[in-house]
Amino acid sequence: MNQFCPTSSLEKTSSTDVAHCVYIAGTGRNGSTLLGMLLSSDPSVFFAGELTHIWKRGFQQNQLCSCGQPFLCCEFWRAVVKDCFGDDCDAKVAEAARIGEGISSFRNLPRLKVGAAFRADSVDRYCRTYSELLKSIARVSGCQTIVDSSKYPTDMGALIQGGVPLQVIHLIRDCRAVVYSWRTSKRRPEIHWKDEDMPRYGPVQTAIAWRAFNSLIENLCLSSSETYRVLRYEDLITDPTKHHEQLLQWIGVADPVRKPEIASKDHSVSGNPCRFKSGPLKVTGDDRWRKNLSRWERSIINVVCGAMQQRYGYGD
Ligand SMILES: [Zn+2]
Repeated sequence: MNQFCPTSSLEKTSSTDVAHCVYIAGTGRNGSTLLGMLLSSDPSVFFAGELTHIWKRGFQQNQLCSCGQPFLCCEFWRAVVKDCFGDDCDAKVAEAARIGEGISSFRNLPRLKVGAAFRADSVDRYCRTYSELLKSIARVSGCQTIVDSSKYPTDMGALIQGGVPLQVIHLIRDCRAVVYSWRTSKRRPEIHWKDEDMPRYGPVQTAIAWRAFNSLIENLCLSSSETYRVLRYEDLITDPTKHHEQLLQWIGVADPVRKPEIASKDHSVSGNPCRFKSGPLKVTGDDRWRKNLSRWERSIINVVCGAMQQRYGYGD
């Protein structure tokens, strides 16, 4: 850990050894950060951000936590790391980073699509560390439910293979909006040592990824209907209160808060820049794509994802 940061005064608030993981699956720019923040407005739910990136963006690059502190200086994460790894975390973190990078590789998408598995010993080691991390987050936060918005079907496939119990929310967003979002420049406030924008991708790459991700998530979750739920981003933002309540009931929250409000900052490790905003979160749609998407871009999306778009109700 970074020696320049103060010692954490946060102690674990719960002795629970149970951590229940809600995994938000889907493509980038699908609104997963917003959904995670909404769910965490219930005091029993903790939104951890994209845990797949904790090893590199958190431990190695020391990017900003959503509380505004660099990861290694954030009191919450310092307490989690101490609880999980003790004083010597370097070897375990390096191993998780190495295995995690291999798991997340998009080269695994076609292999997983045809039912291939990851190397069992690597996945077992990764899942053991991931499970211990979840338990430590639960102990320090006092929340039994942890929301991971990593989204990658590759990671989800590894966690399923490794026996990590997940409830999966498959969050789908209109491919046209996703294509527009990925070609729009956006600053990354979590890179605090220099100015940097998020990467931008063209319509072909985004449409292919949209189809591959969504179709693989469906395949991986097909046999687990009780722990798999599909939600369209557009439906979520049209009636956030209704979906918030329904999802919390599905997750198993005994007495869910009725109104989804994000009143204070949390500690998410990676995700959309909206996680840095404090105060009540305004839930609004973004349909700039309707005016700004070119005919060529619409044609690409139609060719690559037309059938899936129709099936999800994006036919207008
Ligand atoms: Zn923090």
